[in-house]
Amino acid sequence: MNLILIGPQGSGKGTQAELIGKKFSLPTLSVGQLYRQQIRELTKIGKKAQAYVLAGKLVPDKITEGLLRQELNKKRYKKGVIFDGFPRNSEQNRFLEKLLEIDYVILIHISHKEILKRLGGRYVCDCGQTYNINSEKSERPKHKLFCDKCGHKLKQRPDDNPKAIRQRLKIYEQNTMPLFKHFKKQGKLITISGEQNVNQVFKATLLALRHKGTKV
Ligand code: ADP
Ligand code: ZN
Repeated sequence: MNLILIGPQGSGKGTQAELIGKKFSLPTLSVGQLYRQQIRELTKIGKKAQAYVLAGKLVPDKITEGLLRQELNKKRYKKGVIFDGFPRNSEQNRFLEKLLEIDYVILIHISHKEILKRLGGRYVCDCGQTYNINSEKSERPKHKLFCDKCGHKLKQRPDDNPKAIRQRLKIYEQNTMPLFKHFKKQGKLITISGEQNVNQVFKATLLALRHKGTKV
């Protein structure tokens, strides 16, 4: 099974991708996470991508498609994959449609106000764990600004600053949202409200997949 998780910044699509992945024993593929890793490791792709990521702009499609092709070659994706943050425009979607068949697209929807609140409160750890100090208790770190899992100091993402956030939302509205119509026409779109707690969003997603005939 191949799924796409789509939604605005801060909608919790990364968190849900992980949960769905565990449930179905499928790997997740987050393009944003891959880029952050490439940037940390100072690879050729990382050096090309850095300025775009920092400014909240999409990395040019050719680079992203190369990164994806390289990643999808790995054995772990043989049985299927959950995409988080890809595709984000129609060119990327055309590229993806040539590579594999998508079963469902899960859109996690939240309001503009909620987006701004969440991004301002988002803290991340180098180990990959994400927290939110503006959300309910289960999403806050137990010890102020240190990771529950590994104890490292938490940071805000460099692109979670007001200017880059505005830029990312603009791209989402202008380039990503037009894809919804296309997925709807294909009968693949599942819309879930992201303004519930993590577990409720997950349950609603499983229920919707079951309605569509997926065995869960
Ligand atoms: P968010 O969805 O909150 O913007 P991500 O971690 O998914 O955060 O992405 C961070 C950054 O990585 C994006 O702002 C962009 O620069 C880059 N990126 C992620 N996905 C793509 C993509 N599909 N195409 C181009 N660039 C991408
Ligand atoms: Zn950690």
